[in-house]
Amino acid sequence: MRAEFPDFRLGNVLATSFTGTLSERHGNAVERIPTPHRLVDWLAVSGLAVDSCTTAQLDLARELRESIHAAATAAALQDALPAHAVQVINDRSAQGRAAAILTPEGKRRWRLSSASCVEDALGVIAADAISIIAGERDGKLALCASPTCQAAFFDTSQSRTRKWCDMNTCGNRQKKARFNANHRRTPRSAE
Ligand SMILES: [Zn+2]
Repeated sequence: MRAEFPDFRLGNVLATSFTGTLSERHGNAVERIPTPHRLVDWLAVSGLAVDSCTTAQLDLARELRESIHAAATAAALQDALPAHAVQVINDRSAQGRAAAILTPEGKRRWRLSSASCVEDALGVIAADAISIIAGERDGKLALCASPTCQAAFFDTSQSRTRKWCDMNTCGNRQKKARFNANHRRTPRSAE
C-alpha cells in the first residue's frame, strides 16, 4: 500500500527537505505527506522518529511547512519576511521540547520529550529554518530555476551558483528539455 504514496525528496538540510514534501508548487503540486502516517515516515527518515501522528498534528506540520516556504522564499528574494509565517515558525520553535543529545560516537541526535510528540519534531524543524533564514549557517537561500518548482533551497556549493533544488529531479528535467530542444533543431543525419 505504501507504494501508492509519492517518494520523499530528501536533501541535506532539514528545513528545506521538509518544505520539499510539497513539490511542484507552481505546476501540478505533489503532496508527499498526504496522511498522518506519511508524516511519521518522513520524520523517521529525518532522524525525528515519533510513534504516531493525528490529523491535527499533520495540519500543524503543513502550516509550519508553508510558513517556512514563505519565509525562505522572501529571504531568498531579499524581501521583508511575511509576519504570519514568522509567527508560525516562532510558535512551533517555542513549543518544541526536543533535546540535542551527543552519542558515544560523537554524533548529534534529537531526543523528543515523548514518543508521540510531533510538536517536538516540528520545533526542531522550525529551529533549523530559523538558523538558515537568519543566515547563521554557511550557505545561501535561493529559488529553484524550474518554473513549475521555484522551491527555496539552501545552496552550500562553493560558488553559490546552484540552480536547482534537486539535481536528480528538477536539474535532470531541465537538462533533458534542453537536450530535446537542441535535438529538434539539429537536422537528422543518416544513421
Ligand atoms: Zn526544483
